[in-house]
Amino acid sequence: QQHTPTTPPTDKVAAITGGGSGIGAAVAEQLAQAGYRVAVLDIQIDNARAVAQRLHAQRPDGAVALAIDVSSPQSVDEAFGALEQHFGKAADVLVNSAGIMPVAAVMECSWEMFRKAMDVNVGGTFLCSQRAARGMIAQRFGRIVNLASISSERAGVGRVAYGTSKTAITGLTRQFAMELGSHGITVNAVAPGPVLTPMTERNYTPETRAAFEATIPARRMGVTNEIANAIVYLCSDGAAYVNGVFLPVDGGYLAA
Ligand code: NAD
Repeated sequence: QQHTPTTPPTDKVAAITGGGSGIGAAVAEQLAQAGYRVAVLDIQIDNARAVAQRLHAQRPDGAVALAIDVSSPQSVDEAFGALEQHFGKAADVLVNSAGIMPVAAVMECSWEMFRKAMDVNVGGTFLCSQRAARGMIAQRFGRIVNLASISSERAGVGRVAYGTSKTAITGLTRQFAMELGSHGITVNAVAPGPVLTPMTERNYTPETRAAFEATIPARRMGVTNEIANAIVYLCSDGAAYVNGVFLPVDGGYLAA
């Protein structure tokens, strides 16, 4: 699929963790279309390379794929160092889309499963935001968007690890927003409702999907571009006065 830039190229650099799949890949494509240079960061480097390859088609110097394990401080530091070397500047935008969804009931969830969700989803968001904010503070501009979830606000069977991690992400977002706001940086959370991606394809049965759809006012699951639209807005210059918000993009699920 060929993408045509809709706005002239800028010097702005966007880093998207989990950019090799699902919502992150849609964000990478939309930010490239909006003229950003894009670093696609993922633990699954082949997927990140495939996304970056598609973006190269529209701007040869505009995309790079980098391996990262967001739960490792050393890997995060190395990946952002490589990004800065590649583009000759720090990231202006960070979208923390890397995440995992372990599903297990309260009485069956192992410590390892619980801790992995916290390490990747919460720890990864913390480490990447802190590392990227170094450059953002120096350049007095930054946009950070975290992926929360409707699970941040609503309990669900099997969501003890995932839901707890997503609730923590909303708290983390507010902490960063408060302390970084005076540096020209905004930090916001987007909370998608159920969206069809490899993550939900792995975890949803036709029955759980139908049950969800019945309770969503829009009566359907979302698509990745609908989440990316909101993320791209929060990354824009025009969103400078939106800071620390929790923005559901869920077809009305949390309002119902
Ligand atoms: P996805 O599985 O399609 O993509 C997630 C990506 O994160 C994958 O490419 C994976 O390789 C990467 N990743 C996993 N662990 C990593 C690690 N340790 N280091 C680096 N990368 C790692 O999932 P998605 O549906 O696109 O979800 C993206 C984000 O949106 C997640 O944070 C998820 O919790 C959130 N979210 C998704 C939905 C949904 O319905 N799909 C709903 C609410 C929130």
